[in-house]
Amino acid sequence: MYVAIDDTDSPGGMCTTFLMTEIIGRIGLDLIGLPQLVRLNPNIPYKTRGNAALCARFGRGTGQSRRIGTIEGKAVLAWSDASESGSTEELAGLVSEIVGEMYERHENTNPGIVVSERRFPGWFYQEALKREMRKEEALSIIREIGASFREFGNGRGLIGASAAMSWHPGRRTFELLAYNHYGNTPDNDEKMKIAKWADSVPGTFSSVDSRHNKALIFPSPRTPVYMGIRSTLEESLINIIEPIGAREETACERYMIYETNQATDDHIQADPEILENLMSCSLIAEISSVPEAVQGGHWFCNAIWNGKTIKAAAFEPSGELRESFRNLATGDMVRFFGSYNSAVLNIEKMEIITLSKEFIRSGGRCRICGGSIESAGKSGVRCRSCGEVREYYSYSERKRNLLPGWYEVPASSRRHLAMPVDLMGIMEQ
Ligand code: ATP
Repeated sequence: MYVAIDDTDSPGGMCTTFLMTEIIGRIGLDLIGLPQLVRLNPNIPYKTRGNAALCARFGRGTGQSRRIGTIEGKAVLAWSDASESGSTEELAGLVSEIVGEMYERHENTNPGIVVSERRFPGWFYQEALKREMRKEEALSIIREIGASFREFGNGRGLIGASAAMSWHPGRRTFELLAYNHYGNTPDNDEKMKIAKWADSVPGTFSSVDSRHNKALIFPSPRTPVYMGIRSTLEESLINIIEPIGAREETACERYMIYETNQATDDHIQADPEILENLMSCSLIAEISSVPEAVQGGHWFCNAIWNGKTIKAAAFEPSGELRESFRNLATGDMVRFFGSYNSAVLNIEKMEIITLSKEFIRSGGRCRICGGSIESAGKSGVRCRSCGEVREYYSYSERKRNLLPGWYEVPASSRRHLAMPVDLMGIMEQ
């Protein structure tokens, strides 16, 4: 039996992953496989933070089991198989009691719960990454599959819950989330120490931003999440549960490993036929105007794509990417990755494929006496010293302050779904 939930938190508190740990701890069923943390369209205006929805499979565990977390000192096991029992309606009622008790009351918090005997088809997940969906679309697929559902407020969370139910992991990564009941946060030095240690574990990524001295594993303090360590390998996270527990035992009593679609680029549509508002895509374009800055440190340029002019932007938080973006020149060929909103492609990363050559006219020196050259009108150029006349100027190639290759926003500004350039060889299937 699969349980999916979404939209339980507000900017002031709670986190849907924490609520899922409550369900895991209280539901009286075994967890089958890892719980899943599924990020959806990052451009959706209703999102609280990272547009995450959760899905987990429950039943009576059979086959092999492994420890994937701890809830108040008690090990949480994930089983490889299940003999399932019970009805979706009964389980939806139980989950709804827990969600109803714990979700954050806020005008923009509208929880949705979906319970199903089978997963939903993958197209729903794909659509939820691409565009804004309507609640009716979620209800229609829920009815088609015969799933149970519960909702609070306007029930918008049913969209995210149905999308999480439709994720069939292809590319995937893992995240270990540790929760903090006590509100303790270490000081910056201690944070950096822990983050660097996490970074040294094989498979982990996005733990530190050394360039800006930021410990990325520690998120906003206004959620129950104390830290999140990401990895391409589940085993590496299993192996660090114990050492983290020992190090952080005064701060955390709850940890869970999730299977995620983070860092997969699943939100990117490669070479779309048209650009639609709220989509994320990658496309090859030729720069057609010199980048210009606007107030606030944002840079814009025009580019030709599919015979049309589009506007690309590197906004202020894009850091080093913006520094490279501003050095683009007319004629450069670039593959942009970004989200399209209000007729602007907001760049997340880019590959500079070729740089155009720009030649500048230089008088050069006289080939006979080495004297300086001046214009001789229609006749060409003349040497100021010896009077030698030539028909042409010399040209030299302007040195570019940029190299072909990959550029991306700093890890602290990266979308959860965006694949870091370092992982591109490892993750691409
Ligand atoms: P957090 O990451 O902290 O858990 P959040 O950023 O996931 O919070 P939510 O509070 O879950 O934000 O709100 C997101 C809302 O947007 C949910 O109601 C979800 O159903 C809805 N939603 C997600 N994807 C889409 C989509 N493609 N179209 C329309 N609504 C969507």
